[in-house]
Amino acid sequence: MKAVWWIKKDFRILDNQCISRAVEECSEILPFFCWEPSLINEDDYSSFHLQANWQALSGLCLSLIKRKSYPRIVFGDVIHELNKLYGIYSFDRLYSHVETGNLNSFNRDKKVGEWCRRKGVQWIEITQNSVFRGANAEKRRNLLTKRDYRREGLISDPNEISSPVRKGLRSNNFEWNDLCKKTVKFSGVKLSPSLQKADEKSAHATLNDFLEHRGLGYSGGISSPNTAFDHGSRLSVHLTLGTLSLRTIFSELSKKRNFIKGNNEISKKWKKSLRAFESRLHWRDHFIQRLESFPNMENFTLNPAYQNLKYENNSEFLELWLAGQTGFPMIDASMRCLKNTGFLNFRMRAMVVSFACFGLHLSWRFIHEPLAGVFTDYEPGIHLSQLQMQAGVNGFNTIRVYSPKKQFLDHDPDAKFVKKWIPELEKYTSVEIANAPDVVLSGYASPCIDLNSRSRKMKDRIFEIRKGNEGIRQTNKTLSKHGSKWNQSRKRKKQQDPQMKLTF
Ligand SMILES: Cc1cc2nc3c(=O)[nH]c(=O)nc-3n(C[C@H](O)[C@H](O)[C@H](O)COP(=O)(O)OP(=O)(O)OC[C@H]3O[C@@H](n4cnc5c(N)ncnc54)[C@H](O)[C@@H]3O)c2cc1C
Repeated sequence: MKAVWWIKKDFRILDNQCISRAVEECSEILPFFCWEPSLINEDDYSSFHLQANWQALSGLCLSLIKRKSYPRIVFGDVIHELNKLYGIYSFDRLYSHVETGNLNSFNRDKKVGEWCRRKGVQWIEITQNSVFRGANAEKRRNLLTKRDYRREGLISDPNEISSPVRKGLRSNNFEWNDLCKKTVKFSGVKLSPSLQKADEKSAHATLNDFLEHRGLGYSGGISSPNTAFDHGSRLSVHLTLGTLSLRTIFSELSKKRNFIKGNNEISKKWKKSLRAFESRLHWRDHFIQRLESFPNMENFTLNPAYQNLKYENNSEFLELWLAGQTGFPMIDASMRCLKNTGFLNFRMRAMVVSFACFGLHLSWRFIHEPLAGVFTDYEPGIHLSQLQMQAGVNGFNTIRVYSPKKQFLDHDPDAKFVKKWIPELEKYTSVEIANAPDVVLSGYASPCIDLNSRSRKMKDRIFEIRKGNEGIRQTNKTLSKHGSKWNQSRKRKKQQDPQMKLTF
């Protein structure tokens, strides 16, 4: 039996079920990767993603060659390339992981499914998280109690992966400059050294370093942009690309827990941090499940009551926000940091979205693509869920409007982060910077809006929907389909207690 392993976002050799199943079930396996212009040319795909994908693939190619396996890497429409390949190598099975991507990759997968059926190729899709395809929320929860991929044993390293010997089938990864030349969009783009390195080797090094040292300061350390770069796990880009399996993380986490002895202050601190870290790994799958269950989330709010909420979508505001020129120091520093490093901690991400939607009156849909472009770890399920949540349009989460001034005072009181990214503010004191929106600082952008009054307007619009009969009806429906267990129990409590009011 001949197999093709279609490499998608599972750029790894270790603990990869596509490889282990194909090795077990087939006599030879051809690793295949297709650079797809239809995805690359999308507005949510940036040079950050191209670089991360390219690095991850280059690392994987080296590991494959060490195991006597030679990949085929092509550029073009995937159906066209699969057809071409089938013409010279009539394979029986196509192995890939289950992808929950954007609408474009969702539709592409449907076409690949049809192509496989036409050709009589069996497409075996293997899950690499706890997200289920199909089934309603209750059934999914039941399935998860029976079988949780994340807790299963790790697969051993495949020392040799037998692949077809015909030279005509092989093709190496492109050199960076050659890859960039293939699209007008990226022609001439240089590799950026300030982005996190994204290959399998770096993924394991990042995980080890986190569990040995950096993770101790996780709890409490991830809120500030001054500490989150060190104390956060920094695994998001690796989970997005699949350079590390979720199962490997759970396995190492469990080893670390067994290693922590006693009840001294350090042990307690580690335990607290690991608990907080693990809960985020669960949130990850929870949000990806939302997109899996509602693939149209790219264009529609999960809660239909908010679909037609009015926004200005002023392009000038969008440009100021993206360029870090709004006149609000914490917002501008965060946006400039993102543009340079492709990374920002959760709290600051939430703050910049809250500012865009409540302050600038830009809709979550309007900012989705440009923001995805500056997140190297862009994961559509998390990204879209968080955008809608921070915009206050899912109806069941508490509405939080972040104050950039409060975030500055709480998480950057010495203005270290702000001054790093906004050199114009070097000469000012922290007190002057904190008051920036009210007092003009020469040499720095003056505030582009009156944040308080505009936020109030947007909150009023949202609460009008939230309190209306249709809003309540749709929220209950959305909550039972997509809410977490925590949301569900809150809902039950609220129903039992008629005194309970919406909090904001
Ligand atoms: C508007 C907005 C957009 C976001 N978009 C993305 C995105 O595209 N990709 C992405 O990976 N994360 C996204 N996040 C979640 C979060 O900000 C990042 O996962 C986190 O900052 C990555 O840093 P870390 O790897 O050090 O995470 P850690 O804090 O160490 O967390 C471990 C892992 O858990 C997952 N995770 C952490 N926080 C969350 C969360 N709130 N929801 C779901 N999963 C979480 C990530 O995979 C992360 O790597 C977004 C958050 C917001 C507010």
